[in-house]
Amino acid sequence: MREALARRSYGTTLLRGVTGSGKTEVYLEAVAECLRQGRQALVLLPEIALSSEFLNRVEARFGARPGEWHSGITRSERRRLWQMAGRGEVQLVVGARSALFLPYRDLGLIVVDEEHDSSYKQDDGVFYSARDMSVLRASIAGAHVVLASATPSIETWVNAQSGKYERIDLRSRYGGAELPDMGAIDLRAQDLPSGRWISPSLAKAVDARLEKGEQSLLFLNRRGYAPVTVCRACGQQIGCDNCDARMVEHRFQNRLVCHQCGETKPIPQACPSCQVEGKLAAVGPGVERLAEEVAERFPNARMAVLSSDLFNSARALKEAIAEISNGQTDIIIGTQIVAKGHNFPRLTLVGVIDADLGLQGADMRAAERSFQLMRQVAGRAGREGGSAAGVALLQTHQPEHPVIRAILSGEDEDFWDAEAESRRGAGMPPFGRLAGIILSHPDQPVVEAFARELARRAEPLRAAGPSCSVPRPRRSRACAAVSACAC
Ligand SMILES: [Zn+2]
Ligand SMILES: [Zn+2]
Repeated sequence: MREALARRSYGTTLLRGVTGSGKTEVYLEAVAECLRQGRQALVLLPEIALSSEFLNRVEARFGARPGEWHSGITRSERRRLWQMAGRGEVQLVVGARSALFLPYRDLGLIVVDEEHDSSYKQDDGVFYSARDMSVLRASIAGAHVVLASATPSIETWVNAQSGKYERIDLRSRYGGAELPDMGAIDLRAQDLPSGRWISPSLAKAVDARLEKGEQSLLFLNRRGYAPVTVCRACGQQIGCDNCDARMVEHRFQNRLVCHQCGETKPIPQACPSCQVEGKLAAVGPGVERLAEEVAERFPNARMAVLSSDLFNSARALKEAIAEISNGQTDIIIGTQIVAKGHNFPRLTLVGVIDADLGLQGADMRAAERSFQLMRQVAGRAGREGGSAAGVALLQTHQPEHPVIRAILSGEDEDFWDAEAESRRGAGMPPFGRLAGIILSHPDQPVVEAFARELARRAEPLRAAGPSCSVPRPRRSRACAAVSACAC
């Protein structure tokens, strides 16, 4: 890494390290080298909530507080940092994706931590991926880029495989901590009554942890009580009045919430469709419902529910996390917010309640996201500082699914290669490019008719845009630098 910095020219390195391998320490070494050269360094992080823990660590390492850039800082602090970056008075900036656009005087290094994280993509206003723009900016500035991840995006993986990016692998955990043992619980062979989600095998594993005074994490990536509310009289599911999504019951708030557009309304007594009262039923599990089951099944266990909608500030969430770290909790129930970077030394069991969730979907990244998320969650067990090795158990109806198999076997590279191959075959990114056209009109039938007509006459568009599925010679330096572009 230091050698790459010493070249003082553009280059990108994928720093791939399993959870707990000490990636951060490795890229901070690159930051140190950059600062020694007198150039500026930028570290991008996906989660604002994590940055204070990170800032303290950086301050302890370098003896000075880095510049901070995220939505939580004031206007005047922003102005000050903007000017300092331009005058070269701040050497190290830690920030969210827009920190990339500060007017650095002499940028030598950009680190994109958790480069696969979807929060690097801005999808309102100006669309961009901060990861790809980092590579572009570095190519203009003659800077080095470090993309750090335990589970890189397919785009980055393909670029590293083709030699466009360099690659450094950290294959083992720091300090001899062991990776968790992974196992599947085949739900087809478990005796699980309807309305229950914790299988007998998983419950037994939790019991064993309770006996030893260790922690268990039950992971379910669904906020709220139940994802679907259905009327048992007419079969109608309660939908959002504002969009076409289904409303999710949030029992703690006693409301129905649309996770797509944010619309909320009180839980009705009568079915909005047939007006029959008392027939509305919750279908499927959310973390709140899982909490109910845990309280019933493990009445003496201390339990914490971590879900973004249950905390109204980053501080409240941080306090809850600190309590868990201090061992004041026996069973943690969490959505994907538990997947990110927290260190729970007493945690030795991770149970994934529904590993099949997210395997299917129209999104071409569904399998990739599911893989990244489950890998990260499983990595929470038995981390550095913990005494015992961890175990991760995945409850699934399809243990033979390629994603589940890849997670269990630890053959990450096979999974990425297979995903990359299927993208190549379909001409999908990074082998091809997609463009979206958004049409809007106050009158729905008019815009639908227009959209259909547009699709019918799309031939000239197809003719104008040559398919990128075959890699071509590089056209320009900037073009070659953008990882999503293969043309
Ligand atoms: Zn009804
Ligand atoms: Zn909605």
